[in-house]
Amino acid sequence: MTQTSRVADVSIRSLQEWLDACPTPFHVVERAASTLLSAHFVETQQMSRDLPSQGFIRRDGAIIAWRRSSRNDAPFHIVGAHTDSPNLRLQPRPDIRQAGCGQLGIEVYGGVLLNSWLDRDLGIAGRVITSDGAQRLFNVAEALARIPQLAIHLDREVNDKGLLLNKQMHMTPLWSSNEDVPFVEWLSAKTGVPTSEIAAYDAHLFDITPANILGHDKSFIASGRLDNQVSCWAAIESLTRIDTPDHTAVVVLNDHEEVGSVSTTGADGPLLDHVLTALSITDRANITSHYDTLRASRALSVDNAHALHPNYQERHEPRHAPIVNKGVAVKVNGNQRYATNATGVAYVANLAMRHHITLQTFVSRNDMPCGSTIGPITAGRLGIETVDIGVPQLSMHSAREMCGVNDPLSLVRLLAAFLQE
Ligand code: ZN
Repeated sequence: MTQTSRVADVSIRSLQEWLDACPTPFHVVERAASTLLSAHFVETQQMSRDLPSQGFIRRDGAIIAWRRSSRNDAPFHIVGAHTDSPNLRLQPRPDIRQAGCGQLGIEVYGGVLLNSWLDRDLGIAGRVITSDGAQRLFNVAEALARIPQLAIHLDREVNDKGLLLNKQMHMTPLWSSNEDVPFVEWLSAKTGVPTSEIAAYDAHLFDITPANILGHDKSFIASGRLDNQVSCWAAIESLTRIDTPDHTAVVVLNDHEEVGSVSTTGADGPLLDHVLTALSITDRANITSHYDTLRASRALSVDNAHALHPNYQERHEPRHAPIVNKGVAVKVNGNQRYATNATGVAYVANLAMRHHITLQTFVSRNDMPCGSTIGPITAGRLGIETVDIGVPQLSMHSAREMCGVNDPLSLVRLLAAFLQE
């Protein structure tokens, strides 16, 4: 099979399966690792040994994979995305009993669109860390918890004045009425780890509705966590389908983008820097030739963009509002909320043209603050020219987001073209 036919083989069904299997960043890393292993990538724990020619390294909610060029000192072509999504996470002591109900204390993670979590059937997923430091993932996709919205009779002005939700008071889910079971005992029963051996856990709520294709023409996909698992999925799918690249192809999936990226596994942590340095050292490079390699390298920071919302067109910059299913957007911001610069735009436009891929452009309105991505952080830390791109989507940061079914597939083609050359 050729590279082109392997890439053309990718289906939206595989994105649905990925999304359903990945309720948390830890599951994203697990899914990415198993996809890489089946494509004959070698996992390594230590950078002090010579790194394999195609391998990966993982830390908690982050993973970095690479495929080396056949030539020494080849610059890097890097694709970056983030594994985390805004959500509700259980507190360390979550058990609450009030008003005849058992509830779970939560913490709001990132910029959650709070109302989207109301009246949904929620499952619980995450990881248990046992007393010996080992990690065990769990994913209970059952209707376990629900945050009921206040009835309109008790909130008469809600449709005129809008819904105001207090994160501490109004977002606490119910999960029992009869029987009180401490959360840790439930967790023990579900994971098979005795309570005495559960040293700590990460437990995230998620909407258990599977990813779905919708529209009379089946042209949309709806799911939780499209931001930014569409990009994680596309990055791994493309890396595992290329032939030996001309540059060293690297995919980095960082955690904690939604809360500012400062962590050991975030883009503002040292992980990517360490792996790129280790790859250069494996090539017997010295520090100054490593800097030259970085200078000649390129990165694409891949994160979803805001698609033009038909009901709120005034919220978008009229000439720079990408449309669903009309192509991946190049994201530009003069104030460097995105890393994109003119030479980067020229490179990506040329790449897309050579591979017959349509692009769009996203720019925020001047009177609206622009979000950011891992792009400026990667560019700022490593001095690598970076372009921000992404699939246009609606309902960003909702518990259930939507995008088109064509754009994720053209993203795979674009990333494969970039990683291949
Ligand atoms: Zn994002």
